[in-house]
Amino acid sequence: MEDCIFCKIVRGEIPSWKVYEDEHAYAFLDINPVSAYHTLVIPKKHFVDSFDIPAEEFAHLMETLKKIVDLYHEKLGLENMQIVNSSGAEAQQDVFHIHYHIVPRSAGDGNNIQWKTHPELRDQFGAMLQKLAD
Ligand code: AMP
Ligand code: ZN
Repeated sequence: MEDCIFCKIVRGEIPSWKVYEDEHAYAFLDINPVSAYHTLVIPKKHFVDSFDIPAEEFAHLMETLKKIVDLYHEKLGLENMQIVNSSGAEAQQDVFHIHYHIVPRSAGDGNNIQWKTHPELRDQFGAMLQKLAD
């Protein structure tokens, strides 16, 4: 993908702060860090999102994610992280080359992800699951 910013990073056309690299995956520091070691993990090949990526490539991405999480745990003693993927513009994806955020968290870091919950949806659970079975 010519214009994809993450493809450009993989090709070395724009600079990045590399954490890890292998044949299939690349991990680098997010340019707008939420916390120290905020990291993005991507496949080297261009896939748009969780829908687009084949299962095998996805599995490798997850293995890479686990490597980085373990690295940060073992080397830095980090024990609190949020791992986030947004797939789709309405799910707040901004860069359309699939990526996973690893965001180390700590008490009092000023961040607070809060989902707006909808308990009234419990009434629809039966119908929701039926739709999958149809
Ligand atoms: P998302 O909103 O989940 O699509 O996240 C895209 C992320 O890519 C944001 O956190 C950006 O800060 C990050 N980002 C964009 N350009 C770069 C870049 N050149 N190097 C590192 N991170 C980047
Ligand atoms: Zn790309």
